[in-house]
Amino acid sequence: MNQPKTLVARSLLCALTLAAALGCQDRTVPATPAAPPTAAPLFVFGSSAPLNLHERVLLAATARFPPPAGSARDFPPAALDAAWDTAVRGYARAFGSMFSPAATAAQRGLSRADAARFCAPDPTPVVPHAVCALWPAYQRDQWAKDDAKNKAFIDRLQKTRPELWQAIADDLVRLYGMPWPKHPLRVEVAAEVGGPGAAYTTDAGYVTLASTDARHQGDAGLEILFHEASHLMFAEVEKALAAAGEKTGRPVPDALWHALLFYGTGRVVQKHIGPGYTTYAEAQGLYTRGGFDGFAPALDAHWRPYLDGEVTLDTALAGVLTALPPDDRGVDP
Ligand SMILES: [Zn+2]
Repeated sequence: MNQPKTLVARSLLCALTLAAALGCQDRTVPATPAAPPTAAPLFVFGSSAPLNLHERVLLAATARFPPPAGSARDFPPAALDAAWDTAVRGYARAFGSMFSPAATAAQRGLSRADAARFCAPDPTPVVPHAVCALWPAYQRDQWAKDDAKNKAFIDRLQKTRPELWQAIADDLVRLYGMPWPKHPLRVEVAAEVGGPGAAYTTDAGYVTLASTDARHQGDAGLEILFHEASHLMFAEVEKALAAAGEKTGRPVPDALWHALLFYGTGRVVQKHIGPGYTTYAEAQGLYTRGGFDGFAPALDAHWRPYLDGEVTLDTALAGVLTALPPDDRGVDP
């Protein structure tokens, strides 16, 4: 999800480097995809007022991810500047970062909160109450605008190559060795998102996308949708990466797991759309001007063959680690 803003995920997984060696056999590329049931929908989309206000304040409180140019900044009105500052400071104190357990708990609570209970006398306990000073004005002046943007984004996204969705999901399930997270996987859409435009919350089992982020429009929005879903099905690759580090004796760069995910899901989406599609990481320069500088040659040489079904997962990961400069830690974008 700042550096180059991009996506970053908002889960403890983002902060963790898997250090433990987990016994791993060499896994071959499965011959038969463990496809999810095709009759069940992959995603269900939602737009919630409490979560939209929460994400706005969270974005301001976690300055690591400044909003990209062109993002909506139409709330609050000047008369609420003081209340806004208080809420932002409260969020910064309560959550520390968007990867904190408290922030994850808030996401979980907000996914269930309905507008009638949000900031009620017994407010959602995981949200700093200072945000409630903004709630009446948000509902009155801003929510309808945000909701309209969200619904327009959802409508566009649902019309973006829907015939490819199941095939993309099937490939991700096969390559990452985990089932589809949930049928359907909930996608909360917010005008602004307190991650770099998109986020996932592992234990809440849903993802959040920003409707006003210019980087999420068109086919890139489709990749981001599946990128965030991939976060919920990447644990086996991360385990294999840790094991490859033990086996090869090479350090595992902190940002490498996320680079593998960006590259992998981008490659799958590109395979289905066609070679004319530029992956999100390439379009945003993650391999050249931020985050994953220096990773691209190793990913091209060793990760791509796994994605194309030519080598095993363990062979690919060992190859990536061996090819990387030993002192390149990377920076999670
Ligand atoms: Zn990510």
